[in-house]
Order: sequence, then C-alpha cells, then structure tokens
Amino acid sequence: MRCLIILALLLVALPAVAQKGPADTLWELYQEGRFDEVVQQGKALLNTGTETAQVNLAVGRALADQDQCGEGIIYLERAAEMDLDRSWVYAWAQNYLGNCDWFAGREDAARRAWMAARDADATHNSTRQAAMNLVGFGLAESFVTWTDFTTDHFAFRFSGQLTDLDREVYARTHEEAFTTISTFFGGGGGNPIRFFVWADQEEATAAGMPPLGIAKPEYDMVHCVAAQTVGHEMTHVISHRALEPTARTGLINEGTAVHFDQTGRDQLARARRALAEARTPAGEPLPVVATAALWDDWSLLPGDVSYPVAGAWVAKLIEQGGKEKFLEFYSDQTLAHARTVYGDDLQGWLAEFDAALAD
Ligand SMILES: [Zn+2]
Repeated sequence: MRCLIILALLLVALPAVAQKGPADTLWELYQEGRFDEVVQQGKALLNTGTETAQVNLAVGRALADQDQCGEGIIYLERAAEMDLDRSWVYAWAQNYLGNCDWFAGREDAARRAWMAARDADATHNSTRQAAMNLVGFGLAESFVTWTDFTTDHFAFRFSGQLTDLDREVYARTHEEAFTTISTFFGGGGGNPIRFFVWADQEEATAAGMPPLGIAKPEYDMVHCVAAQTVGHEMTHVISHRALEPTARTGLINEGTAVHFDQTGRDQLARARRALAEARTPAGEPLPVVATAALWDDWSLLPGDVSYPVAGAWVAKLIEQGGKEKFLEFYSDQTLAHARTVYGDDLQGWLAEFDAALAD
C-alpha cells in the first residue's frame, strides 16, 4: 500500500466528541486498519438507504488508503458535498481528494482540494495536514515568487529570495553530481527530481517546513537550502531508486549521503574533530560510542557528530569490501545483514575504525 499521507502521519482523524451515527462502527474498523470491511459494510449502509457524509468519507478514505483512488474519489466527493457545515468530514474528504489528485498528476485539482481543506479551518489536524501538503508539494500561494528551472534529471524550483544564486551553475553542478552518483548506484532513470531550493532555514521555518534538507524518494522530491552540499539529498533519492532498501539504518543511509555529498571532505577528520569538540549538556566530553552501537541506535550521538562518523564509516566499508558487496549489502542496512555479507572481516574493520576515531 502506498502511503498517501504526505508529510505527517495522521491515520486517525476523528472528532473529539463522536456523535452517535451509522458510521461509528466503520470508524472503529478503520482505526484497526480493516479497510476491506469498512468498504464492504459502508457500501451496504449506502445501498440500504443509510447515507451520511461520514459513511461516504469512511468508504472513500478506506479505498484511497488501499490505492483505489479511482473509486474512492466518488465517495470522497459525495462526503464533501453532503457536509454542508464544512466540518471535519468536509476537510478530510478534501484532504484525501487532494492526495488522490496529486498522485494522478492533477496538480491544479490537488491544489484546489487542499486549499479547500485548509480554508475550511475545521480542525487543527485537518488544517495543518492540508497546509503542509500545499507547502510540501510547492502549491501554496507563497510559491508564486519562485522560479522554475528544468534539466534532464531535475525540476528545480528556486525561492524568490535567492536573487544572487546562479541557477545555471547550480543546475549544472547538480547534473554532474547526478551522473557521478548514478554511475555508482546504477539506475539513473525515473521522473525528474522535484528539487525545492529554499534561501535558508528561516524562510523554510516561516513557511511551516521542518528542518531541511529533506529527501522524499517515494515522491521524487527534495527540499533543501541553497547552501547545502550538492550531493547529499540526491544520494537519498538515487540510492533508493536503484536499490529500494527494505531496511534502512541511520548510520548507513545518512553515511552514504554524506560520503557522496561531492564535497570531497575528509569525513574521518571531520568526525574526529566533531567528537573532540562535542560536549554533553553538563559540559562533559561525550561518552565513547562504538560504531556497532550507533548502527543499532542512531540516536546515541548528536547529529553534528553522527553524520561525519557515518560518512567516514561508509567510506571505509566501500574501501575495504568493494563496491559490489556494498551494493549487495545496501538493500538491508542492518548490522546483522552486514555481518552476513561481509563475514568475519567486519569485526576487524569496526575495531580499526573505532580506534582511528579515538586516536
Ligand atoms: Zn540525509
């Protein structure tokens, strides 16, 4: 099932005070993820003359959640139409209609639906979800000042605040990086990557975006700030397309993006410096964290330390084990899978790497 919820995961959108009605049992099933039963029982209600906006919404959402937008749209539109008060039912029907439109390539319809959901201002969650979709997919009003620049592999959108940025140079360096990174991972086809380039985090935050950069490979989409490295975010997209990892870990996924960021920086030196400078909230040096432990729990170190550590580790893994083994390993990025692919050598490499970090 494709995830239709876009930037936030809000599975359940029910009113705080539920009114008793024919849809109540449908929502219980819906919350349990029993979408087939929601559809079946909802249709039975509709066929026997019990039609409410909520019943239509439940059926429409359950269909959309199962990638059956073609049929789901009929129920979602009916739900929106019947909810004359434009309550949460209307707002969620429009949110889902927007999702369906987006994935069918109907951008203008998606914009209209998400704007309707947002402007209904029915509940905090429905309004927020719609606003996030509008910004996340570049459809909000604020994007009218942005400019487009399309190349072979990218559909760039540049913030209107980036008056000094040389877009052609930016696009060319990104195309070059795309070729380099695709040569390693394979693939290279696919839709152009929608590449949103914000002036800075301040602009993004003001628009309601979380901290950047963000890569959403499943939507062929990146949001970044202009000052970010050329290769990091596109590596997430390219590696995902080529190898479709089923198990991701922070150490490998982020480490790979850092390794291929195209800066050529010595990540081991950066990691050692970051480790030496980092302090706990109490002002103490950080406790020693073995790379194997970080592999299992990516939260053990702060990001300014863990990212260069990961980049340096991925560099070593590729150097020691070679490209082919790395690509084989990458689809399941867990430590357990690394032990299977690399065998007994891995333990020695980890020990050498931890020693080099601490040196
Ligand atoms: Zn990343």
